Amino acid sequence: MSIVLGEDDCIVCTKSTLKQARIKASGKVYHEGCFVCTNCKNSLESFFNVQGKLYCDDCERNLFAKKCVKCSLAIESTVVTAKGKTFHNDCFRCGGVSIILYILLKYKINN
Ligand SMILES: [Zn+2]
Ligand SMILES: [Zn+2]
Ligand SMILES: [Zn+2]
Repeated sequence: MSIVLGEDDCIVCTKSTLKQARIKASGKVYHEGCFVCTNCKNSLESFFNVQGKLYCDDCERNLFAKKCVKCSLAIESTVVTAKGKTFHNDCFRCGGVSIILYILLKYKINN
């Protein structure tokens, strides 16, 4: 069963926005008070829509950005993926030797 929203209904709280201050974004309607970041509840100037939820720039970066397993900072540039782990390009290069050793070791065990 899904809730069917009218075109004037806020998609966050599903109530009508007709008599209240409202914001239109990406073809959807929000109460002014509902147009906030799902995580930090700050009002949004620009936003990311992640699976129907709104997040501010900072939270989107903190919650969803790939993090480097070496330095644990978010990766905004080139992501290097090895063995299901993500690295900054630079972090990967300086840690590259141990990863190659690990792969070789695994290869030996399996064979
Ligand atoms: Zn609302
Ligand atoms: Zn936020
Ligand atoms: Zn890193």
